[in-house]
Order: sequence, then structure tokens, then C-alpha cells
Amino acid sequence: MLYNEVMIRYGELSTKGKNKKAFINRLAQNVKAALHDFEEIKVHADRDRMHLILNGADSDVVMERLTFIFGIQNFSPVMRLERDMEIVKKTAVEMVREQYSEGKTFKISTRRADHDFELDTNEMNQLLGGEVLKNIEGIKVQVKKPDINLRVEVRLNGIFLSCQTVQGAGGLPVGTSGKGMLMLSGGIDSPVAGYLAMKRGVEVEAVHFHSPPYTSPRALQKAKDLTAKIAAFSGTIQFIEVPFTEIQEEIKKSVPEGYLMTVTRRMMMRLTDKIREQRKGLAIFNGESLGQVASQTMHSMIAINDVTTTPVLRPVISMDKNEIIEIAKTIDTFELSIQPFEDCCTIFAPPSPKTKPDLDKAREYESRLDIEGLIERAMANLSVSKINVGQTLEEQQKEIYSDLL
Ligand code: ATP
Ligand code: MG
Repeated sequence: MLYNEVMIRYGELSTKGKNKKAFINRLAQNVKAALHDFEEIKVHADRDRMHLILNGADSDVVMERLTFIFGIQNFSPVMRLERDMEIVKKTAVEMVREQYSEGKTFKISTRRADHDFELDTNEMNQLLGGEVLKNIEGIKVQVKKPDINLRVEVRLNGIFLSCQTVQGAGGLPVGTSGKGMLMLSGGIDSPVAGYLAMKRGVEVEAVHFHSPPYTSPRALQKAKDLTAKIAAFSGTIQFIEVPFTEIQEEIKKSVPEGYLMTVTRRMMMRLTDKIREQRKGLAIFNGESLGQVASQTMHSMIAINDVTTTPVLRPVISMDKNEIIEIAKTIDTFELSIQPFEDCCTIFAPPSPKTKPDLDKAREYESRLDIEGLIERAMANLSVSKINVGQTLEEQQKEIYSDLL
């Protein structure tokens, strides 16, 4: 059944006091962006609800897109009808029938904004309830907690019917919490961390380190494909490629094996922080989970975090691998993440890095490097691209070529 309106309920942002207006405006922007190819849709953002007037747009496609937008608690497809009881009766039966399966119960709940309407709420409930009972065999009325609740609203501009509530993505509208830099590898954890950051309203930009020729173009492409996946939750994501080859080679030359990983991570953190500063981000996000590998112990975090005072936020810090994988599957990044391409960190990594690196030693070994020069050269060669939701390799290339032409 194709509906002509969708009513959106806000959820958590209803409680946000004076920020409420900014939140609602941002959500409206995000909804419009997600539905940008439906020019006919009108978005009305009220204080308590948002109404989408579909004007012929396919309600199934619209509802599918809405499930990816943070800040929406739930939504209901709505049928707006003329104030003609014959049409209302017929549509009410159709809508209940669509939700009905054997054993389900229903009720009709009418509200009137227009008290001059020919029928009062009781008469409406009786009339429509009778019509449903007559036409759907086996269905029963239940007033308390029915399976199907057909809501009917009589207003001056029409009669509105709805009987379905679809769960939204929850969270806060992307952008309302500010911008953060996501350290995105090709692994399982960092895309999940990015998704969770976006869920709390962060506008994420992806920072990816790669070390050609030690890492292949396909590893870079994998990171971009993962970005395109999580862009489903924000429309687009800026992807920042950081050339890391020279730094890794220098570290390998000058730093003892046990500290390769720690110093490498310190350099990644420094660069991410520089990029954050340049792009006016407020925090850094990564996919670290406590105790998962040597670089993710609290001792390691002390030695690595030492290079910045910027908040480093770790959305999956307390999750087990299985829990992270569970989320990766629901956001559809898992299959991509497990493709076997070498990561820049694994290639130079010793088989057994220190799980308890010493901060002073890390600083001392690092001082053998020309830190300023290395950072400056990497920063001079960043490459930034905009990645859209679901963009395939082919489409990305097309865009690059069209930029060149
Ligand atoms: P992931 O599954 O996210 O790759 P991981 O368990 O493999 O995580 P590590 O490789 O130790 O863990 O990386 C820890 C975190 O460091 C990652 O979650 C990511 O945020 C960041 N990171 C690692 N490699 C890169 C890279 N090449 N580019 C950007 N960030 C990276
Ligand atoms: Mg990794």
C-alpha cells in the first residue's frame, strides 16, 4: 500500500530544551539530504513532529531511507483522505488488512480536531470498527493493547489514518554534536566506531593512513568502500588519505623492534590531530577495544595518547569482538572488513610488540626522528575526497574522471 504522508517522532531531542530548535532544523536538513532525489516531497518540521508530504513519492523507498537517519525515534506512514466516509471506510479496511494475520486483534482510536464533523469519536470508532469486522474474517476487537491500532484523526483539512509504527535509528541528528576525525583502517572495529560516533550526532571525517607500495591500491579502496557504507548514516563523508610510507620507513630504521608499534601510533595520532586542527574538528575517534591487541592496553594508551590533549574517544572500548562483529553485520561493513588486504600497520609490525611500553622510552626513541619534517611532508600530500553513500568503485572513478575533464 502506498501512503501519501509520513509522520516522524523525534525521541531524545524532545528533551533538549533550548537546543531543540537547532536539533529539529538539523534533522530536517538531514532528512532532505537523504531524500534529495525526491524533489516532490515537502518537509514540515514542527516542534513535536515532522511531517513529510510525499506528493506521489514511493512511501516504501522513503521509509527505508528514514531508518538510517539518527534523531528519529520512530515514524508512521499516514494516509490523508478527503472527508468522505465512503473513502475512509474502504481505506481503513485495506490498512488493517495489510497488518492482519491470523489471531491478531485491533481497535480504532479516533480523535477530532474538528468538533463540528458530522460524526463524533464514538460514532467513528463504531462505524469503522464494524466495517473492519465485516470485511476481515476472524479478526477480533481488543481495547487494551491490541495488535493493530488504527488511529484516525479528523481535521479540517482531511481525515488522517495510520496503523503502523516503524522503529527509527534513535540517536541524535548527525552534525548536532560537532565534527570529529575517525581513524579508519580497513578492519572491523573502526567502521563500527564511526557508526557509533555518528549515532551520537557527530559529523565524522575519515582519516586513513596508507603506505604504498607496501599497501596495495585495493587496501585503500577497501577503506573508501567502508566509508561509503557508513555514509548511509550521514549522506556523505570526507575521506582524507595520509601518505605514511616515509614515516614507517624512518621508524623502522631508527626505532628498536619493541617500540615500532608505539612510535608508529604516536605519529598517526600526531597527524590525525594536525588534520583535526586544520579542519576544525573537536575530537578524534578510533576503533580501540581494551585488551584486544598490544596497542590497546591502558599502558599503550598512555604512551600513545601522550602526543595530544585532544579528546580521543573510543566508542567500542568495552565491547567484546563478538559484539563489535554483531554491529558490523547490521551496518553491512563486516563482509568488506574481512577481505584480506594488508594494513599499513601490520606490514611493519613486529610479531610481538610490547603490551606495556614505557612512556619515557617511547619519547626518547621517537626523538631520533625528524618529527617536524616528516609531519610537514605528510601534511603537504594529503588527499581529500568526498564519498557518498553506497558509492561503488566505478562511480567513484567516474567522479574522479569527470573532475579531470
Ligand atoms: P580495526 O578493526 O579498526 O582495524 P584493529 O583491531 O585491527 O582495528 P588496530 O589495527 O590495532 O586494531 O588499530 C586500532 C585503531 O587504530 C583502529 O581501530 C583505527 O581507529 C586506527 N588505525 C589503525 N590502522 C589505521 C590506518 N591504516 N588508518 C587509520 N586508522 C588506523
Ligand atoms: Mg586494523
